[in-house]
Amino acid sequence: MVYNRCGTSGIKLPAISLGLWHNFGGVDIFENCREMLRKAFDAGITHFDLANNYGPPPGSAEETFGKILKQDFVAYRDEMIISTKAGYYMWPGPYGEWGSRKNLISSLNQSLKRMQIEYVDIFYSHRPDPETPMEETMSALDHAVRQGKALYAGISNYSAAQAKKAITILNELGTSCLIHQPRYSMFERWVEGGLLDVLEKDGVGCIAFSPLAQGLLTNRYLKGIPEDSRAAKAHGFLKRESITDAQISKIQKLNAIAENRGQSLAQMALAWVLKDPRITSVLIGASSTAQLDDNLKTLQNLKFSADELKKIETIIA
Ligand code: NDP
Repeated sequence: MVYNRCGTSGIKLPAISLGLWHNFGGVDIFENCREMLRKAFDAGITHFDLANNYGPPPGSAEETFGKILKQDFVAYRDEMIISTKAGYYMWPGPYGEWGSRKNLISSLNQSLKRMQIEYVDIFYSHRPDPETPMEETMSALDHAVRQGKALYAGISNYSAAQAKKAITILNELGTSCLIHQPRYSMFERWVEGGLLDVLEKDGVGCIAFSPLAQGLLTNRYLKGIPEDSRAAKAHGFLKRESITDAQISKIQKLNAIAENRGQSLAQMALAWVLKDPRITSVLIGASSTAQLDDNLKTLQNLKFSADELKKIETIIA
């Protein structure tokens, strides 16, 4: 495994981290979840990313993770970076989502119970809240850190301007922002328009979520929609109808470049995100240990020639 420093902090994260948004819920097969976590940790993936609402049902990914942690990883807690988040809809009523201090603190308490742990390593504001003063949201993160229920604070889905403001407030509070978690892949490049510059300037790390565009940037959909894929599942966030012919054509062209590099498309897509030194880690999902194995081999070839980058650019621009 390659470990990259997270911004200018003392923490290093694995270049590949594992997220539990899909495939670790109550609807999924427990033994498969367990095998994936064991394989990941054995391969040096020390960072596991969760959120209050991951499942389905919401909360069940944290429960699954907590059970497996207890069974297999108790002795290794200090070798792991576990993150969770609050901000998206979790429970009914006015306090079950967004960025109030009430929601963030109570949600973190619930997450710790579900995972059966005393603290998380990173606690995120999952999304900016247009109605709550940012000072309140950031002070809740600061409070969680001061309480010892989180070691570091993070933000997710904040625009460049919102991130700048959040980072400044956290600095004033004395709890610096460790990391930002935005969506970033060959198919979703908004971070290149200013966010990465802000993070670099302020010494904040960046972990890119959905670097495989939920599986589109793999060999999964080259020949249609497999029945066991995210796009075929009723509860998946990738919708069948969102996979267009234009996208399939791009994926096929990218796959040809990957083949020439001697890589799978998934490996090339991850290497492409990791080529920017401002990216600390790619936060992948997986539904099998075979996918994990494939993705881990990314680290064998992270370099691109100028010609390859140019060809890729003409496809994804
Ligand atoms: P990816 O883009 O990595 O997509 C993962 C999916 O791609 C897998 O479930 C699998 O699909 C497919 N896949 C993975 N590897 C391979 C492979 N080698 N070959 C073929 N198919 C492959 O990431 P996710 O969208 O799952 O997001 C990753 C994590 O990011 C989440 O778990 C979560 O922690 C975080 N996240 C954060 C968000 C936020 O708002 N902060 C929002 C979304 C995600 P299949 O299941 O079909 O096999």
